[in-house]
Amino acid sequence: MAGNSRRRYDVAIVGAGIVGLAHAVAARRRGLSVVVLDRAAGILGASIRNFGHLCLTGQDGRAREYAEESRERWLALAAEAGFWVGETGTVVAAQNPEEAAVLDEFRDLRGPDDIVILDADGVRDRVPVAPGRVRSGAWLPRDLQVDPREAAGAIARWLRDDGVDFHFTTSALGVDPGRVHTSRGPVIADTVIVAVNHDVDQLFPVLAEAHRVQRCGLDMLLVDAQLDGPLTSPLFTGWSLIRYAGFTRTASAAALRSRLVAEHPDLAALDLNQMYTQRPDGGLIVGDTHYRGDGIDPFQGEPAFDALLSLARDLFGVRELRVRERWQGVYASAPDDFLIATPLPGVRVVSVTTGIGMTTGLGLGERVIDDLYSSATTQDLGEPTISLSAR
Ligand SMILES: Cc1cc2nc3c(=O)[nH]c(=O)nc-3n(C[C@H](O)[C@H](O)[C@H](O)COP(=O)(O)OP(=O)(O)OC[C@H]3O[C@@H](n4cnc5c(N)ncnc54)[C@H](O)[C@@H]3O)c2cc1C
Repeated sequence: MAGNSRRRYDVAIVGAGIVGLAHAVAARRRGLSVVVLDRAAGILGASIRNFGHLCLTGQDGRAREYAEESRERWLALAAEAGFWVGETGTVVAAQNPEEAAVLDEFRDLRGPDDIVILDADGVRDRVPVAPGRVRSGAWLPRDLQVDPREAAGAIARWLRDDGVDFHFTTSALGVDPGRVHTSRGPVIADTVIVAVNHDVDQLFPVLAEAHRVQRCGLDMLLVDAQLDGPLTSPLFTGWSLIRYAGFTRTASAAALRSRLVAEHPDLAALDLNQMYTQRPDGGLIVGDTHYRGDGIDPFQGEPAFDALLSLARDLFGVRELRVRERWQGVYASAPDDFLIATPLPGVRVVSVTTGIGMTTGLGLGERVIDDLYSSATTQDLGEPTISLSAR
């Protein structure tokens, strides 16, 4: 690597998405020298392809802990790095009694600081859903929102100004203790963080297999619509209530799942999460579907987009939706929500293995760096690290 190959860093990070950046932020807070490597020409992965929804209320267990820590980090970073983070909360629109029952039970579990039950008018006061379309709903006040096209880039620029070296168009080809072999030569560092999302199956295939990591592809749209007012909060539906662990642990979630699957087998087959956020320019992010495998078919079927658009027309009561963009997102998927492993001394492989990396990533990075560099305490990262062949 021209210029930098002879320099030794405290921390080398492979992957400039939110998870890699989170580790860079945490390392810089401890005064460590950091280099970030990414094979793409810029930040182009899942971290810019998402909803920008920081959905901490819907998390459970370890994800909730990371999400809570991330919340503080997002608010602080937005001020420091100069990007928008909205204390928007989330609105959940309930369209049937089973959805309302999940929300009521969740309120009983979590209390009024986390969830406020709304009637239909209360939902419509907050989000522009069509009259008569919802029966009730909820407000999750602590959730946040960022613009996914802005946030990661702003954090990277802020880190660069703070002395972090970034090398894009630089592929990691393999990792040894203290060394990343890249397409531009070796990078030397005491600690190596590998934060390559689903591409962990390329660099550490044995590790990925051991954790049953697959790829999950998602269909997404950006549309222009004449809504009956701005969408000032991310909007969840019943499909979200059978997805996020905080909601699915309610006893009522099983009945809701049965109802949705029985009434909409076509949508269930798409593994739909009907949800929306609005970007600052007014564009409505519409999603999403999920399809998993070792490889993801790049050919996105139009029926999935038809279904997403039809649902949006119904919920918002609009006839015209102009599609501005369509894209495919991909993230790592595994039975556990997080992969944190030490395949080699001084090397951490870190991947969020479900679709909550924006929500949890900043807290996760903090914990991993803390575990590596705080001599006083050893953080319980919740699962044993394992040693497997690096390549
Ligand atoms: C459509 C969609 C919607 C989502 N919505 C939300 C949401 O609203 N809220 C939420 O919390 N989460 C959401 N997620 C999940 C979230 O976006 C991801 O969990 C998160 O962005 C993962 O961050 P990352 O840094 O691991 O991955 P990425 O952003 O994909 O970054 C990984 C980087 O590693 C690089 N890389 C890979 N291999 C190599 C190599 N060999 N050498 C060098 N570089 C390499 C890639 O180029 C890439 O830049 C969504 C995801 C998708 C796809």
